[in-house]
Amino acid sequence: MAKLSLDSKLPSLGTTIFTQMSALAQKHQAINLSQGFPDFDGPKYLQEQLAYHVAQGENQYAPMTGAQSLREAIAKKNKELYDYDIDADSQITVTAGATEALYAAITALVRPGDEVICFDPSYDSYAPAVELSGGVLKRLALQPPEFRVDWHSFANLVSDKTRLVILNTPHNPTGTLWHASDFESLWQAIKDTSIYVLSDEVYEHICYAPGGHVGVQSHEQLKERAVAVSSFGKTFHMTGWKVGYCIAPDYISSEIRKVHQFLTFAVNTPAQLALADMLNAQPEHYRELPEFYRAKRDRFIDALSNSRFKVLPCQGTYYLVVDYSAISDMSDVDFCLWLTEEVGVAAIPLSVFCGQPFDHKLIRLCFAKKESTLDAAAARLQKI
Ligand code: PMP
Ligand code: GLN
Repeated sequence: MAKLSLDSKLPSLGTTIFTQMSALAQKHQAINLSQGFPDFDGPKYLQEQLAYHVAQGENQYAPMTGAQSLREAIAKKNKELYDYDIDADSQITVTAGATEALYAAITALVRPGDEVICFDPSYDSYAPAVELSGGVLKRLALQPPEFRVDWHSFANLVSDKTRLVILNTPHNPTGTLWHASDFESLWQAIKDTSIYVLSDEVYEHICYAPGGHVGVQSHEQLKERAVAVSSFGKTFHMTGWKVGYCIAPDYISSEIRKVHQFLTFAVNTPAQLALADMLNAQPEHYRELPEFYRAKRDRFIDALSNSRFKVLPCQGTYYLVVDYSAISDMSDVDFCLWLTEEVGVAAIPLSVFCGQPFDHKLIRLCFAKKESTLDAAAARLQKI
């Protein structure tokens, strides 16, 4: 029989940098500050509720759009925190992590030949999803240390083929935030077009700005054409549970649901019920999250002040970007390999989040770690 050779639909893609660096960290017994996940456990109550719902026999398919109690708890949280009025039945869809929500939204919105604008550095799941939908990604490079959008350059990227803009705030990897004025600038740039907006807000509860997180739903006009994506993995220290959701107006939600119902159909039932209980019973968990992570961030920054790394500002997420130009001339990828193998600390190079050459000496360190882990990593980083 003839051996087939598969013509790849994603020829330039390999394994994600997060998987690669975590494997390398394990191989060299390095402290893993690369892939973004906590090295501590989530709330006991959440785990108990998961066991409870399993024991209660809640083990069959959940409703396709998400468990009613979870969608209602999400709507209530959004009302209390941000004063958003979101309809739990028609506007919230529970997905298998934010990754599925992003993929379903991109699949629902992007048609072959459509252009999609994103801001580099950008999270690694956007580009393949756009490519598989036949879209063409237009990347606007943000410049360190501020990584702010230059709205003049943005206007130059918009064409009559532009279909979607993808943004991320708080931003992985740079820790920067979009402000209300950015959303207004985006609105001014697209209001006379039929361009949609996909706003990745998975770190909404890890935001250190005095006024808290500002999301796309806060903009009265944009929210009518926007999808906001969030994830419980970051909020409850349970990245392995893979439960997320998206919020969109009815006419967009119904299209996203058409994709979702054949991508996963429905998400893990007992986990959804446990998350609903958690949101309702312990809202202080997410309300106190900025303080929880601020303490870790500041402890780590303080320790790094005794090193040759230069720390960039971090206003959100659990990532710190540091400049190593005083230490080495290596590329960021080579530096991360060296750091893992020789120093025993694994990090993520920023260039892998970019479609064009990114020649800055910047790496990302995840500080969602126990104090002892952060102290041990800092001690190694101080020596170089
Ligand atoms: N978007 C961003 C910016 C992320 O950092 C991540 C994961 N850390 C995701 C989406 C995916 O989230 P999930 O694990 O819920 O799929
Ligand atoms: N979002 C996580 C990060 O930025 C990784 C998620 C993954 O491994 N796919 O590190």
